Amino acid sequence: MDQELRELYQQVILDHNKSPRNFRKIDKHTNFAEGFNPLCGDNVDIYLILDEDKIIDISFQGSGCAISKASASLMTSILKGKTVEEAEKIFNKFHLLVTDKLGDNPDIEDLGKLAVFAGVREFPARVKCASLAWHTMINALHNKNEKVVTE
Ligand code: ZN
Repeated sequence: MDQELRELYQQVILDHNKSPRNFRKIDKHTNFAEGFNPLCGDNVDIYLILDEDKIIDISFQGSGCAISKASASLMTSILKGKTVEEAEKIFNKFHLLVTDKLGDNPDIEDLGKLAVFAGVREFPARVKCASLAWHTMINALHNKNEKVVTE
């Protein structure tokens, strides 16, 4: 990984860990799911307000490492106002990004700041930290009640 990306990665993680966006409970949520990553001890709750197929509001709560928190923070920032279909598309791309399956010249413009999570590929043990909130968000979109547990 080049130096610039590494610095950007650390900067974004630190920023979102220190002041997480959308870190609150939505009392009148329409959708909810919880997730747990036993490898690291990360917990995340995802709250959503869906109007038809549009994400009107999204927030998270929980406790965990800087990467899991920053990932949830960035995710909620980017998904607010998106449709369910768009959210699933972004999830798929994010998942390919962190598992290093995007290929050589990926089009990651729609990922915005999430692109810095390419940095997590250097730390395979942290991929589950980075993707926990996303798997949980997908369950919340479909209001699945079983807890997401990364294996
Ligand atoms: Zn973690």
